[in-house]
Amino acid sequence: MKFYFPDSQDLVSPSYDFIHDEYSPLRVRQRDDKYAHEVLGERPYDGMLVSKAIVDGSVKGSGKYSEPQRARLYRLGVKRFFRLPEGIATLGDCGAFNYVTEAEPPYTVEEVLDFYVGCGFEAGVSIDHIILAYDSAASVATADPEWTRRQAISLEFARRFWDASQQYAKHFVPVGSAQGWSPASYARSVAELQEMGYQRIALGGMVPLKTRDILDSLHAIDDVRVPGTELHLLGITRVEAMDEFARHGVTSFDSTSAFRQSFMDDRKNYHTEQAEYVAIRVPQVDGNPTLKRAILAGRVSGREAIATERETLHRLRGLESGAYSISDVLETLADYERVSQSKNRYLQQYARTLSDAPWRDCPCSLCRKHGVEMIIFRGTERNKRRGFHNLSVLERKMRNLQYR
Ligand SMILES: [Zn+2]
Repeated sequence: MKFYFPDSQDLVSPSYDFIHDEYSPLRVRQRDDKYAHEVLGERPYDGMLVSKAIVDGSVKGSGKYSEPQRARLYRLGVKRFFRLPEGIATLGDCGAFNYVTEAEPPYTVEEVLDFYVGCGFEAGVSIDHIILAYDSAASVATADPEWTRRQAISLEFARRFWDASQQYAKHFVPVGSAQGWSPASYARSVAELQEMGYQRIALGGMVPLKTRDILDSLHAIDDVRVPGTELHLLGITRVEAMDEFARHGVTSFDSTSAFRQSFMDDRKNYHTEQAEYVAIRVPQVDGNPTLKRAILAGRVSGREAIATERETLHRLRGLESGAYSISDVLETLADYERVSQSKNRYLQQYARTLSDAPWRDCPCSLCRKHGVEMIIFRGTERNKRRGFHNLSVLERKMRNLQYR
């Protein structure tokens, strides 16, 4: 089972100074900042997924790439741009979620192939249009016409994409995208894609589905799937179901959730193979607009806020050297929650995080190097490193699966 990490230009600066919370004055982003595969000792994923919509920008907003970055990606190619070691696969897609509200996909087959082949991707997904619904009972006759229209669009693009990609067949693998709204409709898409010639098929639009619905769809696909067809689940991580997915021909998936949970989730910020922990929130007074407003309005003493912030960090680090106990740390965390007028109350969960201290046992190179900083929810350098750590945990979980 191969895990692809969707790129969103997430890098960390190895020379970042955690004590002073400062970047090195000598830092050159493009040269010095590193991707997860460059800072983790063990490879955190098997491949990278890069979306055209992320590179080019989309109707929903600007992309993650500046114009010079975009130009460098085209000039250097995907392997050199990401400084990928041997053995990390590359997959392109259109990023259909970015244009899901449009009537039609905004790309032509030629533009998309130009992106995939021009950047040197090993494989790329055909242009597709996501169906934002799931109804296992709806037949072609009873389905919402918009669903059947989107399926027809996706299949038509897949047909033209297959034909146009044949001239690159020596070094590029076309991946057909299957969209559906039910087990039967997904199976029909897969059957048609196989008839066109596709051996790799990506199943799209399944992100909101329950695991049960995904499995039902995979069961239906089993009836039409020919030996040798490999399935990719777009945007899905359900580690508990991966073994079963694998038995239905799934050989790869991609997902950002392990990474993003480190700073987006309310609770599951730091993963281990057995559990998830809430990270310790010590936001910077300087970077906290609510707190700054409260200080300006005179409701909070700025001096007290900064003193409490410093004391909290000091005690967290002192916990590691044995200078402070867990209750010392919880005491100052309670102070900081009060001073910073945080709406959330995490102290109960903090006690669990601090007493289990999972970062001390983690073998990943980031936890080994940064220790307690990894559990502190504060600023992009810590939060992204914790996300990278989560990727390495996911990779370890995948390696422990029966099917791989
Ligand atoms: Zn770690």
